[in-house]
Amino acid sequence: PSTAILLNSNENPYGPSPLARKAILESYTTSNRYPDDHIDLLKQKIAAHWGVSAENILMGAGSSEIIGLTALHVSRKKKKVITAEPAYKVWNNQATAFGLTISRTALTADRKFDLPALAAAVDEDTAMVYICNPNNPTGTVVEVPALKNFTMEASKKTMVFIDEAYTEYARLESLASLAITNKNVVVAKTFSKIYGLAGARLGYAIAHAETIKKLASYQAWSSFSASTVSVAAASASLEHSTFIEDGREKTEQAKELCYETFRKLSLEYIPSRANFILFSINTIKKDFIREME
Ligand code: PLP
Repeated sequence: PSTAILLNSNENPYGPSPLARKAILESYTTSNRYPDDHIDLLKQKIAAHWGVSAENILMGAGSSEIIGLTALHVSRKKKKVITAEPAYKVWNNQATAFGLTISRTALTADRKFDLPALAAAVDEDTAMVYICNPNNPTGTVVEVPALKNFTMEASKKTMVFIDEAYTEYARLESLASLAITNKNVVVAKTFSKIYGLAGARLGYAIAHAETIKKLASYQAWSSFSASTVSVAAASASLEHSTFIEDGREKTEQAKELCYETFRKLSLEYIPSRANFILFSINTIKKDFIREME
């Protein structure tokens, strides 16, 4: 129903930036043309945003495509992926289709990725370690200095994939600068979350230029891989300097409201650094999803 408040899928309920909305309307008339020039410009803008160069950027249909391309790439030589339980899983079926098997380490007592356990699990057969920071679904973070140390060590033996879908919410430093100098590190970012453009399907990898070339080789027509309209929306969003701060602020207020409600209802929850909250419905006897609907 149109009155439903959709809280699923960790989308941004406040919608795209007004600048993105305007850019979408202005750009659709040029949809008869291929988008390569626009994509090049967006890559340059993204590169400037992160202080890297355009050859370190690969655009995908959401960061989902970037995870898929990386999984395909690593699956050509080795077969084991290591991640945590629970962590973001949507890409798991695709990885399995590439012949990868996924093994999982438990979270720490405070529900974070257990970096020493992950490091201990890496062996000769490990194709990739997948880390999502902040983690979906727990909303917890591992601190960046520890993550950098882990990444530098583990990348000597295997690809390390850092999924930064929610870093803006947590004000976390990106591992971009480490990724561009290390062929075994891929950082994934997305316009789907704080930029409010999940339907535009636009994400990107930041990695070493050679790694980017390899990942791009699995796309049929790499420099034409996103729509002009989506690219215009993303590009305009990057220019809206106060948009992220505003979204973060609203999300923090909404989370406080939820925490207060969980406390009133005596529901256990994990304070979140992202735009979603994991909470326990063990004490709710009814069909929770149906009740919410
Ligand atoms: N990574 C994480 C951790 C996510 O939670 C999501 C979506 O929920 C994605 C990646 C995929 O986002 P997209 O493909 O829309 O960029």
